[in-house]
Amino acid sequence: MVEEGSRNNIILGGGLAGLSAAYHSGIPLYEALAKPGGTAASLDEQGFVFDLGIHVLQSKNVYFLELLDKLGVRLITHSRSGWIYSNNSYFPYPFQVNTSHLSFISRIRCIVGFLFSKGENGTSANYAEWILKNFGKGFADTFLTPYAKKFWGVSPETMTFDWTGNRVPRPNFFEVLKGAFKDQETKLGTHVVFQYPENRKQGFGAIAHAIAKNVHTIHYGMRATAIDPVSRTVFFNEGGEKASYKKLISTLPLPDLLSLLPDVPDNISQAIKSLKCNSIAVINIGVNTPSLSSKHWVHFPEPHISFFRISFPANFTDGLARPGTSTVQAEVSYLGKKPDPANLFNAVKEDLIRVGILSKDMEIVFEDIIFLPYGYVIYDHVREESVKRIHDYLRGIQIYPCGRYGTWEYLWSDQAVLSGKETVEQLSLDESSNNSSFD
Ligand SMILES: Cc1cc2nc3c(=O)[nH]c(=O)nc-3n(C[C@H](O)[C@H](O)[C@H](O)COP(=O)(O)OP(=O)(O)OC[C@H]3O[C@@H](n4cnc5c(N)ncnc54)[C@H](O)[C@@H]3O)c2cc1C
Repeated sequence: MVEEGSRNNIILGGGLAGLSAAYHSGIPLYEALAKPGGTAASLDEQGFVFDLGIHVLQSKNVYFLELLDKLGVRLITHSRSGWIYSNNSYFPYPFQVNTSHLSFISRIRCIVGFLFSKGENGTSANYAEWILKNFGKGFADTFLTPYAKKFWGVSPETMTFDWTGNRVPRPNFFEVLKGAFKDQETKLGTHVVFQYPENRKQGFGAIAHAIAKNVHTIHYGMRATAIDPVSRTVFFNEGGEKASYKKLISTLPLPDLLSLLPDVPDNISQAIKSLKCNSIAVINIGVNTPSLSSKHWVHFPEPHISFFRISFPANFTDGLARPGTSTVQAEVSYLGKKPDPANLFNAVKEDLIRVGILSKDMEIVFEDIIFLPYGYVIYDHVREESVKRIHDYLRGIQIYPCGRYGTWEYLWSDQAVLSGKETVEQLSLDESSNNSSFD
């Protein structure tokens, strides 16, 4: 099979970025797995549908939303029921405007620290300083710093803050003061209103399926295992099959892509080694109880709880759990070695009981653990320079990276789709302005 001898542009990876690149260009796509979606796929087993970590949409991009509409992806809109658990109680997200559960002393520390914080003007040396300048020491110590350490797996001192955007919202003083006396559900921060595909059986994966249905050529089960940049050939499945290319659009994580190339210069190998990303273990549980919670998700900043976040997938759309059952999904972040699945499952289950979500007498009817080796790209002080160096090298050998792990950025799903579209548009611009580059 495969386009041996003929030279086409080709795409590697059938997540949202690769699918979008293929949809917007007609270029053939090669995906390692047997189905589309990558990180935005969903699993459907024994009547339980789970996404790979919580996935919801908050896109305001008109093009993206119109594309979903055109492809027949109907969306349900929800008002956020997002929560935080600390000091043995649940209170609405975000923490900054909900501190009434804290001791009087802690509340005063948060309020006074915030009062004297001047806000940030883009000059902080790192994320820890950014937190202090925006929120003060009280908020830093009680929530933002411990949550950052738990979520990213690294100290905020080692991180930059260019990824924050509206992800870490700064309220006004009145909101902070009010929240110190009364819990309040506010419109502050991300996902105040969010959307989720209505399709009852495909979960968030409905988006990838809808794009894939409209892509001309997808070769599934084609894992790229080597690339020869001189003959411009991709070898799949340990050399069993190959495809030659003029230009290669890759949505593979940069470290994986570079590991397929021979003779990578030392300075590029060094740059690759410097890239950091956390990994996420996703623990999926189904119980024989009709409704575990009416919440959408909960953040857990405290280090003695194993997960940083749980969510209740069956609350996003109907049909994601068997009748009479419900589900909870826990996410645990780690760096390096994969945790032992049995130990992790036990720890998560015990913690779910401790925080009052599961009880000992509940019957667990489904359990599963998925390990995502690439979770959230860590924005440290060398990331930007390293990514630039790697991208320059790749473009020099006609490889065009895109998507969340090709750009090595904190991209949401809609941004991954736009990344694929923009890459093929840029490529066709380059090709029409310089035809000789195909040779
Ligand atoms: C835990 C978590 C939660 C998230 N939550 C949200 C959310 O709530 N909302 C939101 O909008 N976004 C969310 N995202 C982000 C979203 O999942 C991504 O932006 C998007 O899925 C990235 O798509 P991609 O195509 O760039 O990458 P990927 O989905 O990683 O696609 C890469 C593809 O390449 C394939 N591949 C890998 N190696 C090879 C190989 N050697 N040969 C061939 N194919 C290969 C993979 O199988 C995969 O299909 C979340 C991400 C994570 C990790």
